[in-house]
Amino acid sequence: MTPLGDLMLRRIAATGPMPLSDYMADCLLHPEHGYYSTRDPLGRAGDFITAPEISQMFGEVVGLALAQAWLDQGAPDRFILAELGPGRGTLMADALRATQGVPGFQAAAQLHLVEASATLRAMQSERLPDARHVDSLDALPEAPLFLVANEFFDALPIRQFQRDAQGWREVMVGAQDGELTPGLSEPAPLAALDHRIADTQPGDIVETCPSLPGLVAQIGQRIALHGGAALIVDYGDWRSMGDTLQAVQGHNRVDPFAAPGLADLTAHVDFEAIADAAAPARATRLTAQGVFLERLGITERARTLARNMDAATLDSHVAAHRRLTHPDQMGHLFKVMGLFPEEGPPPPGLDA
Ligand code: SAH
Repeated sequence: MTPLGDLMLRRIAATGPMPLSDYMADCLLHPEHGYYSTRDPLGRAGDFITAPEISQMFGEVVGLALAQAWLDQGAPDRFILAELGPGRGTLMADALRATQGVPGFQAAAQLHLVEASATLRAMQSERLPDARHVDSLDALPEAPLFLVANEFFDALPIRQFQRDAQGWREVMVGAQDGELTPGLSEPAPLAALDHRIADTQPGDIVETCPSLPGLVAQIGQRIALHGGAALIVDYGDWRSMGDTLQAVQGHNRVDPFAAPGLADLTAHVDFEAIADAAAPARATRLTAQGVFLERLGITERARTLARNMDAATLDSHVAAHRRLTHPDQMGHLFKVMGLFPEEGPPPPGLDA
């Protein structure tokens, strides 16, 4: 067992099984042993690779979409440019390079990053020296907010519930023979899941993300009050169904309970929950990442970049474009939802 696993086994012996959300929060962000707290997990040598690490084109077109949203709202002369969970800072670095040609955009932007990991904060500061780190959205100045979050919401801790004839049983992490083992609580009615009675059968699993509504509401309130837009990109779909918890280590799927703190844990994002929490801002329709990137002109950008490439670079460039956009790769599994003010147009590439 890992050092974090040993701590958890002792805690379970003292106080009993814990909800999956407690388990996931410690695995990812425990100050000493948490997965994100202790390493840079991204890239080819790391455990997984994200869209901005696959190609510079992703951050470029996302940055230009935010700049266009800023222009569409009258180019306010002071605004917050924010990213949730910026990883290595690659997306934002590419976005800033691409938007240099948008007059006034960068002069008006105050760059703010929300990042829980000290290791990744240090990396982001090196890459983005003008950025200010904040612990939460509360700490952002009151101003129009143009925000991006790529593969951030999938890292937020989830709870899982199994439908039962009498109500819902929660998946709880307990211990058996010195191993961490998921089990089920006694069934209980749960008002928060009343809306899922109609579309589930006994035995079905549904997931909730306790920190999501508060976070999205904060973004929505700022956008409604001051203007702005948010682009939320992640894997998932409209409404959660089934067990989507997954653990990845060294680019391979592993058992989520085998090595706490050493594997990345994620779950699919329930975009319906995001849309429900967005008020008083509006949420766009959910759009597949491939469609979104094509609408933003990623193929044009790919052609321009291809002009000066040698054969080997060109091969990997074409593969990267395909990986980001093709429905068999990230193009369909990943989705994009925008938040925007009641009176404003939706962000580029998305439909109201
Ligand atoms: N957006 C980046 C990184 C995605 S990995 C990319 O696309 O490459 C998830 C990121 O969210 C990491 O930077 C991680 O440290 C951060 N993170 C995870 N949970 C967080 C939380 N609760 N608060 C702030 N940052 C968090």
